[in-house]
Amino acid sequence: MPFETPSWVPALPDIPTHISLEQFMFDENYGRYPLGYSNAPFQCGISGRQYSFLEVKERVDHLARALGKELGFKPNEGSEWDKTVAAFSVNTIDYLPLCWAVHKLGGILTAANAAYSAGDLEFQLKHSGAKAIFTSALQLETTKEACAKAGIPPSRIFILPIPDEIAGGISTAGHKTIDDFIAEGTKLPKLPALNWKEDDGAKKVAFLCYSSGTSGLPKGVMISHKNVIANTLQVRTKEQPSRDARKAKHNIAEWTENCLGLLPLSHIYGLIVIAHVGPYRGDGVVVLPKYDFKLLLQTIQDYKIATLYLVPPMIIHLTNAKDIVKKYDLSSVHGCFTGAAPLGKETAEDLQGMFPAWDIRQGYGLTETATVVCATVSGDIWFGSSGSLLPGVKARLVTVEGNEITGYDQPGELWVNSPSVTLGYLKNEQATKETFVEEQDGRYMRTGDEAVVRRSPNGNEHIFIVDRIKELIKVKGLQVAPAELEAHLLTHPAVSDVVVIGVPSDREGEVPKAFVVKAPGSIEESDALLKRQIKQHVEKHKSNHKWLRGGVEFIDIVPKSPSGKILRRMMRDRERERMKKS
Ligand code: AMP
Repeated sequence: MPFETPSWVPALPDIPTHISLEQFMFDENYGRYPLGYSNAPFQCGISGRQYSFLEVKERVDHLARALGKELGFKPNEGSEWDKTVAAFSVNTIDYLPLCWAVHKLGGILTAANAAYSAGDLEFQLKHSGAKAIFTSALQLETTKEACAKAGIPPSRIFILPIPDEIAGGISTAGHKTIDDFIAEGTKLPKLPALNWKEDDGAKKVAFLCYSSGTSGLPKGVMISHKNVIANTLQVRTKEQPSRDARKAKHNIAEWTENCLGLLPLSHIYGLIVIAHVGPYRGDGVVVLPKYDFKLLLQTIQDYKIATLYLVPPMIIHLTNAKDIVKKYDLSSVHGCFTGAAPLGKETAEDLQGMFPAWDIRQGYGLTETATVVCATVSGDIWFGSSGSLLPGVKARLVTVEGNEITGYDQPGELWVNSPSVTLGYLKNEQATKETFVEEQDGRYMRTGDEAVVRRSPNGNEHIFIVDRIKELIKVKGLQVAPAELEAHLLTHPAVSDVVVIGVPSDREGEVPKAFVVKAPGSIEESDALLKRQIKQHVEKHKSNHKWLRGGVEFIDIVPKSPSGKILRRMMRDRERERMKKS
């Protein structure tokens, strides 16, 4: 028997499958907060630039008209795979309107991490088959380099404007901006609506986001329109009782608030939990393009932000900087939500000590489950726990031997069944088959995370993520695939074999460390020099968060199973033991 959502969680409403995400977000028939009354859905935390929801709706419409003309995309013609557009940018208030305009054309948006190197971006552009790209001034050079190699002409590189203070005078002249398109679109004829049938939204891909899954190289996760609609409704439904309570406490007709849009909108957490759930229920997302601690505090104070969406390293930063934090008025905040990596119990307690009135909540999710599987909510918070299941979710815990765990406190791999479980990996049947499995009671995603279920003092079943079985390393909540770094390190002439693992880091959660077997003949360099060269080999080609901050260590042999599989977990456990002793 799988674990299920507690009975006190409200039931999930029907999930419409005949509409696109863009229709879901703008049409009031699907439960969204009334368009005319909501806050500006996105406000720039630096320039203050914002549009009302009705204005955004119009901008999306005009953008779709002009973009469709430029790229030859029509709403009801051609496969969505021939209408893929990439977004490679720091957060801007135009990021989501761009996504929704692509959806209005029946296309796919592939979101690339703004910290990517040209090589990382080139891989995603080629793999996704993107036909055009929107980028910001800060990423323009990298974009040009990647596009040249991926066969995207400069005329298909477009700009998402960012505040001058951030753009630092970098010129984007010669590239059309989103505002140029919108101005052009006002003069173009209206587009036909998508003529989708029931279930089309469950099959058609809205977003292609990259994740390495349980092993190997980054893979394109096919996220359907239904997946995003489902998770938006799941999160909204589970959180609704606490919002209703707040409404009653303040004796107001409706509760809406400002929330923090600092986490990358290219990552599933930012893209869905912040940028869809917030505007759908009438909240305003205050968008910040970069993480600067004082700017963050100032923005919370100035925009009276009520909910902070953070990742654990940012919470550690808050708790380590009590003297600075004290100088700001953060009294508008009632809660802080964290996910993407584990939040330690002690850190949560420390933050609670600083802000006794805050709800410090944790959620757990994956790109492959677009996004949240379980989360703590106000009134049911237990530090260390990732909370109870969202409505519509079933979870199994399975041992290495394949036995199902039905009791408490016994670890097993977490398998998830949910309407938000995605369609699989693009052009990778093998990984799709291994990760998404058909069981008698539905399709489950094998998460590669080890969890236990515990019963809380008030009788609720909570999920605790206790370890990671899969290879993945998470640096500040961002993915690093060891296999990708290993493949790259093997191209260095001094490396004959290598294994990369994650080692704990206070600032970043985890950082990659490489254990290298030196190639014969590479002994003329000193070890220190060679280590530096190996690190630089990564720094030259890979994104900043993938750099070997955990260091390089030379070993004689990489431990492998008889079938040649790297015994990564053994290396990791050995390293943990060593770190504990030192
Ligand atoms: P991503 O697809 O980038 O969101 O990464 C998903 C992975 O992040 C999960 O499989 C977990 O390993 C990790 N993760 C996400 N949320 C949590 C959490 N609350 N606690 C522990 N690990 C988490």
